[in-house]
Amino acid sequence: MKALYPGSFDPLTLGHLDLIERAERLFGELVVAVLQNPSKQASFPLEQRLSQIRQATAHLETVEVSCFDGLTVDFARRCDSTVILRGLRAMSDFEFELQIAHTNRSLAAEVETLFLATAAHHSFLSSSVVKEVARFGGDVRHMVPPGVADDLARLFNR
Ligand code: ADP
Repeated sequence: MKALYPGSFDPLTLGHLDLIERAERLFGELVVAVLQNPSKQASFPLEQRLSQIRQATAHLETVEVSCFDGLTVDFARRCDSTVILRGLRAMSDFEFELQIAHTNRSLAAEVETLFLATAAHHSFLSSSVVKEVARFGGDVRHMVPPGVADDLARLFNR
């Protein structure tokens, strides 16, 4: 079964990567797709986010890295995936994620949203927290893959 893991990944964190590794084992095939969201100003250009994910998932044979704009369910149909995968870190993620899941199901009943609980030791991680720490010169090497740590250092001239 092929699953789709969509997100902004601005940038990829070890929390995302943990979810990707576990999902690949569960589903066999996984498409990690960066959403090009014009209403969200990204810190990293799309190409850089794609290459961060490609580099960090190079050891995972059945992970495909892609990007899309428009509706997630339309992209899920295009890549022949009947599962949209999302991570849940805490209750605070739940309300928003449930709303999106219901919306997506109303648009495409054949596409199921599945949630994976984040690894406990990564549940404090978010792309924005990582950027905040890096901006002020904190060490982020336990939060992101090595290539992303380098990109963050360059972004904030560290
Ligand atoms: P979005 O803007 O679509 O929420 P994100 O890149 O922030 O994009 O997150 C993409 C997905 O990864 C979401 O399902 C989110 O819950 C999940 N996620 C975010 N941070 C973590 C983490 N630390 N561990 C596991 N999953 C996470």
